[in-house]
Amino acid sequence: MADHPQPAELRPSTVAVTAGRPPREADQPLNTPITMASTFVAGGDREYGRWGNPTWQAFEEALGALEGGRALSFSSGLAAVATVLDLVGQGAKVVAPRTAYNGTILQLADLEARGRVVTDLVDVTDTAACVAACDDAALVWLESPTNPSLEVADIETIAAAAHEAGAYVVVDNTFATPLLQQPLRLGADLVVHSATKYLAGHSDALMGAIVTADDELLGVLKGRRDLLGAVPGTLEAYLALRGLRTLHLRVERAQANAGELARRLREHPAVGEVRYPGFGGIVSIVLAQGALAADLLTRKTSLWVHTTSLGGVESTFERRRRWKSEPASVPDALVRLSVGIEDVEDLWSDLGRALDDLG
Ligand SMILES: *Cc1c(COP(=O)(O)O)cnc(C)c1O
Repeated sequence: MADHPQPAELRPSTVAVTAGRPPREADQPLNTPITMASTFVAGGDREYGRWGNPTWQAFEEALGALEGGRALSFSSGLAAVATVLDLVGQGAKVVAPRTAYNGTILQLADLEARGRVVTDLVDVTDTAACVAACDDAALVWLESPTNPSLEVADIETIAAAAHEAGAYVVVDNTFATPLLQQPLRLGADLVVHSATKYLAGHSDALMGAIVTADDELLGVLKGRRDLLGAVPGTLEAYLALRGLRTLHLRVERAQANAGELARRLREHPAVGEVRYPGFGGIVSIVLAQGALAADLLTRKTSLWVHTTSLGGVESTFERRRRWKSEPASVPDALVRLSVGIEDVEDLWSDLGRALDDLG
């Protein structure tokens, strides 16, 4: 694909716009088209639609360039999670956050219940405990910041300890995006994304990805994807790449809005606690008056949409414990806000008024 020379050391915003383009030749399209093909004429590298597709490949080039590795796309974030967790041997020890995306926690619980792995769930903010847990581990799973608790891990220190124990280090980088954090540069072996969220960014496509700078690991993971078939749809890959082109603008605006809202929310008497790590577009609040007040809040706004998922251009929110699968370590009255790219004053007047109404 990108066989025209790319200047080295391009900055991330430029990479988001320029990576994964067709060759710059007369009459070539500027954008990688949607290639609808289940099979390819024999004799090349691709051969069959489960093994590769030019539209996925363009997305993979762009994401790989942003993360500093090579990417593989999957049908969803959880398909990517499952593929990574399957790297470890039978009965291996996996260290993971006690609070993380609930689908990841559920997969680990399912693997443990079937005797496939043994898990050691840690508080990712307790670096010493994480380092101690790395002993005997085969894989250390980090999510930073965590969903929805917004805890931040010391990736560099934990990765060093994990490598000493011979373990793989994985970081789910869905919340930070490669613009705010590049885990491979901090020592991680693998990065996982729910591309459904910020990368695609418009709440219209499900997709996942794994990124690594280790070619041997990439080959193993590609082999698993070929075998299990958790491949993305071509339209989804196109939408994710289209979304990625504006990632820097969306993240910048969402982050600016989130920082301002976090500041104002801290002043509001209906809000008992504000969790904001100081970067990114997600803010979690704990309502002072409990879960009922949190549920009421989600029904009282006109701009903010009550929905699950996150990372789209639109501002959305949800009381996470409405799901029985959410870990009990998440407060019952916690509402996760996915701050969008609207005008912050409109977002605040809608949210602030709804909070005032709680009385
Ligand atoms: C949503 C999410 C996932 C799962 O991704 P899907 O695309 O929904 O399968 C994994 N990790 C995090 C942090 C998420 O927010």
